[in-house]
Amino acid sequence: DQRLQKIASAIRVIPNFPKPGIMFQDITTLLLDPTAFKDTIDLFVERYRSKDISVVAGIEARGFIFGPPIALAIGAKFVPMRKPNKLPGEVISEEYSLEYGTDKMEMHVGAVRAGERALIIDDLIATGGTLCAAIRLLERVGVEVVECACVIELPELKGRDRLGDRPLFVLVEG
Ligand code: 5GP
Repeated sequence: DQRLQKIASAIRVIPNFPKPGIMFQDITTLLLDPTAFKDTIDLFVERYRSKDISVVAGIEARGFIFGPPIALAIGAKFVPMRKPNKLPGEVISEEYSLEYGTDKMEMHVGAVRAGERALIIDDLIATGGTLCAAIRLLERVGVEVVECACVIELPELKGRDRLGDRPLFVLVEG
């Protein structure tokens, strides 16, 4: 697909952010290019419009940029998966490990029902720990995770292998 090359070249790589040695994939430059941004959303919409998905779960913070336009286009609800103590209502939470220490992800109780079919969206998969936490949150309440989707995969980190049998769809590799 010719659109993928343009998307890849609209993503900027910033060395040594947020720490020395990290090559940060910066999607804000993709957002500055309306054609490439629209192509990104369209590629996901084309893939998911006929998959009977009722929930798009977006991971804070950049899953909040890509998730809502996809949800609107496929007629699904959008559910934010947030960092701790951000959601005002009753939440369920999942801890996950980072390079140093742990973090937590939260979802509102009642946002989804058992038996619903979900797509999880984030901008990037590195080790896969973040997507795994989102999968556990949804599956705990009986939601079927149909697929995880990211704009960028860092294949060397093998995060894909941690997702078990849930499929991962990505547009470009970093
Ligand atoms: P993982 O849990 O797969 O190791 O890390 C993925 C999470 O970290 C995602 O939520 C993603 O937004 C963030 N992340 C890690 N590295 C990068 C990067 O280079 N660029 C961007 N945009 N996000 C990153």
